[in-house]
Amino acid sequence: MRRHKTTKPMRRCIACRESKPQDELIRFVLIGQNPVVDISGRAEGRGFYLCRSEECIKTAVKRKAFNRVCKRNLEENEISRLIGQVLDSYQGGMDVKEG
Ligand SMILES: [Zn+2]
Repeated sequence: MRRHKTTKPMRRCIACRESKPQDELIRFVLIGQNPVVDISGRAEGRGFYLCRSEECIKTAVKRKAFNRVCKRNLEENEISRLIGQVLDSYQGGMDVKEG
């Protein structure tokens, strides 16, 4: 794992609203009004961020945070697909807590 001496850019999670270093968050990018997980973290477009935690995923769904950032109501299947992408991108690296 590489370490950088420079200050990491801070980004805010749409679920818990906490600012965290960008590499602790997962980036989404809006293609039109469709959110997709930006695995590279550098895709062009309007982005938003979510913590790499199951808790924040649940919070985002519960608070309809995706609807807010996408400025429309997402269908349930769209949200499920998005969460599927998130879980795929974790590749077992997620910090899962019992709650
Ligand atoms: Zn969060």
